Amino acid sequence: MPLGRTEPPPAKLIDRFGRRVTYVRLSVTDRCDLRCLYCMSEKMTFLPRNQVLTLEEMARLGRCFSELGVVKLRVTGGEPLVRPNVIWLFEQLGRLSGVRDLTLTTNGTQLSRYAQALRDAGVTRINISLDSLRADRFHRITRLGQIEKTLVGIETACRVGFEKIKLNSVILKHRNHDEVVDLVRFAIERGIDISFIEEMPLGVVGDHDRAETYYSSDEVRRDLSEHFELLPTIEGTGGPSKYFRLVGEETRVGFISPHSHNFCGDCNRVRVTAEGRLLLCLGQEYSADLRRALRANPTDDERVKRSIIAAMDLKPRGHDFDLQAKPIIFRHMNMTGG
Ligand code: SAM
Ligand code: SF4
Repeated sequence: MPLGRTEPPPAKLIDRFGRRVTYVRLSVTDRCDLRCLYCMSEKMTFLPRNQVLTLEEMARLGRCFSELGVVKLRVTGGEPLVRPNVIWLFEQLGRLSGVRDLTLTTNGTQLSRYAQALRDAGVTRINISLDSLRADRFHRITRLGQIEKTLVGIETACRVGFEKIKLNSVILKHRNHDEVVDLVRFAIERGIDISFIEEMPLGVVGDHDRAETYYSSDEVRRDLSEHFELLPTIEGTGGPSKYFRLVGEETRVGFISPHSHNFCGDCNRVRVTAEGRLLLCLGQEYSADLRRALRANPTDDERVKRSIIAAMDLKPRGHDFDLQAKPIIFRHMNMTGG
């Protein structure tokens, strides 16, 4: 189903600092088949099902946001592809005329099964998380994962032919920092992009001291520049990644650097958690309860839209991430939707 058939409506979501919100990340579940050690603690309690929005409620929210000028939707989680019937939701979101970009962030374990259906539903781009190419390390970082499943998922996605596929790698010192060159080569061989991410202090993960394992984007770039020629480019995807082109290759290398290169000034996004909490900033707790708005107004989208518009006043100037301090954000990344 083609996207972006008509001109999107003008942006109606503008915050106190004049930033236009045109991008929403929708978390469809807090559950996951992996337990990555920077994202979750080993023992997790997940939300009771009745607290999670139904797929119909999520589709309704997608429609409200698109009518408010949102042109990009990213479905995330938890692991979005473990939610039963999630393809139905992609099909609904893929039909929204104002949405130009319907994207997904996934750990790739279910892609061999779902990649074609996602493409058919209108998904344009996929981000796939991959922190290591070594089976033992991959298992240690994800606590539960078998690398084969993710690698087969990546190959299937490459065959299906999305507009863009990007790998996401969270880099931790002494865990995987020595693999950045191999990961870039893996991306080059497949003609796909890759972003390196600095770990954010979200939730207590109990595995490591985040200040000790911090490995900055500048260090990754320095390591890469010993092997590749990196040319800065202003191309972007409207996100926080700063991109570099590799001379002579299709692949672009991005850096998401919440600590070393703050990107809040350009923030154009909000997030909705699986329980319908509209989060105005990844690194702050300001939020609005959209589940209540949806359930109190089952047939009145205008009221839901008014709640969303009102929430824009809560969007803070930026995050206050501090690796030296105790985490001030107790929600884990699987709650927030990365
Ligand atoms: N399960 C899917 C996946 O792993 O791609 C989607 C959800 S996951 C929370 C989204 C992204 O957030 C992944 O790329 C993951 O590596 C990243 N992530 C998780 N916890 C993080 C943290 N504490 N700091 C930085 N990135 C994190
Ligand atoms: Fe699951 Fe993604 Fe979090 Fe890993 S990063 S535990 S795959 S939600």
